Amino acid sequence: MKFTWASATHVGLVRSGNEDSIRPTADGSVDHPVVIAVADGMGGAVAGEIASRIAIEAAVADDADAAITPGDRVRAGNDAVVGAVAEDYTLSGMGTTLTLGLFLPEGVLKVAHIGDSRLYRLRNEELDQLTNDHTLVAELIAMGQITTEQAEIHPRRHLVTRVIGTDPINVDEFEVSLEAGDRLLFCSDGLTSMLRDPDVAEILGATPSPSEAAWSLVEAANAAGGTDNTTVAVVDVSP
Ligand code: MN
Repeated sequence: MKFTWASATHVGLVRSGNEDSIRPTADGSVDHPVVIAVADGMGGAVAGEIASRIAIEAAVADDADAAITPGDRVRAGNDAVVGAVAEDYTLSGMGTTLTLGLFLPEGVLKVAHIGDSRLYRLRNEELDQLTNDHTLVAELIAMGQITTEQAEIHPRRHLVTRVIGTDPINVDEFEVSLEAGDRLLFCSDGLTSMLRDPDVAEILGATPSPSEAAWSLVEAANAAGGTDNTTVAVVDVSP
């Protein structure tokens, strides 16, 4: 199988800095293993930008080596952030989400994930969220205490319960099979706090090229308010 991807990131209309990071930054197409990752940093001053950058850099290092599992990559990202804080206490409290996928040409996607960035799969016009959000509201929904609609306006809806930058971390790891025609979307919450899933599905389904799809999603998030940084990667699977 072959993988063709494009990424896009934008500061949005409200924030002064972009604390998200994405890899790869350049669009591309390969028929060998490839690692795609998104991170959304948090912390005072510029600490959020530092956290997402160093975590993702450590996580995608040696990205040609398919033997390094996504889980080990995410843990390497965590070690990098924890190590940076140990060396510079002005960075203490910084953290980041990290959602990372290793695409294998035999048709398998291995995923490691922590936080509230998301991975979706569009297959036959149906959009499925493959990752679980590690947020307070997701936990409350799972316990049946609030509805999805109530979560959208919950005052603590941005509270992330599991992040990179803590020790130890609890990483979700899973794999999914890929089919030709699948389209995968990695995104920070700047996208999903502005757009509902049906709107995301419509844009993904209406735009043939990954690059056009990625930038259309960013533009739609900004048109809906752009209250956060928005970062996406769109990956198409072809035979
Ligand atoms: Mn965000």
